[in-house]
Amino acid sequence: MSNLDRQATLQVCGGRGFVVAEPVRELLSPRHVQLGESTEVRRLLPNLGRRMVGAWAFVDHYGPDDIADEPGMQVPPHPHMGLQTVSWLHEGEVLHRDSTGSLQTIGPRELGLMTSGRAISHSEESPRAHARYLHGAQLWVALPDAHRHVAPHFQHHAGLPHVTAPGLTATVILGTLDGATSPGTTYTPLVGADLALTAGTEHRLPLDPDFEYAVLAMSGEAHVDDVPLQPGSMLYLGCGRTELPLRAASDAGLMLLGGEPFEEEIVMWWNFVGRTDEEIRQAREDWMTGDRFGEVKGYDGDRLAAPEVPAAQLKARGRVR
Ligand code: MN
Repeated sequence: MSNLDRQATLQVCGGRGFVVAEPVRELLSPRHVQLGESTEVRRLLPNLGRRMVGAWAFVDHYGPDDIADEPGMQVPPHPHMGLQTVSWLHEGEVLHRDSTGSLQTIGPRELGLMTSGRAISHSEESPRAHARYLHGAQLWVALPDAHRHVAPHFQHHAGLPHVTAPGLTATVILGTLDGATSPGTTYTPLVGADLALTAGTEHRLPLDPDFEYAVLAMSGEAHVDDVPLQPGSMLYLGCGRTELPLRAASDAGLMLLGGEPFEEEIVMWWNFVGRTDEEIRQAREDWMTGDRFGEVKGYDGDRLAAPEVPAAQLKARGRVR
């Protein structure tokens, strides 16, 4: 998915100054963002008070939307740099095309993982024949400096590992949870997991105390560390936890996001993650005028134009002086 916000602002993220070194319960409210004509998403990251959780730098939750008589998701070709995109669905499907030649339909609880490296472009659309409901999340993972120029590639994994407990099925999207490891490539220590809970379940999920965590509520009525979470909201949990109490009043769907606090400062603007203002401006220029981001073949429509970069020069500011 693309950040279609026409007033995209430059953001400096990262640094240990953002990280809470102890367990907290910080409720993050979503910002409602219109994507194209028919889709509204709830943006949890970046949030007013929190930019990242580990290397997770962008989280949109969308649906469930009834798209029986609608085209559904229609995100034209657009570029990415310096990040990975994770497509995660609970209902429906997304047809992914990218400039490395990928053409892949991603279904519920299948991993669509696109590593942009230095440059990629892609489109995402609901297939012409699609399920009635579309419900999912779109996430970005920032790449560390040592790996952010890797060759672009796309991975699709339909059979992800599970961890089960009475009333809980955890699907490991990225990283390792309770001994089960996703086949998706990661570049920093992190975890992403889908938690499906049945009504009445109480469980204590083992965590890594060196990671910071957040939980995104996708559906149902769940309490995370005794905090009731509405679908479309996220609870930041900080570091220093060895386990996380979960309780489901109804069947509920959650996403656990975590990772080692991301130490590098990043500049995130539109669909790019970089380190300097110059780099971001060059990427925009290359998308508008060059062939660096390749070509998405087969998408029926024009590619996205980049918004204007704000005139003010971005200065990278450290959180720790
Ligand atoms: Mn995208």
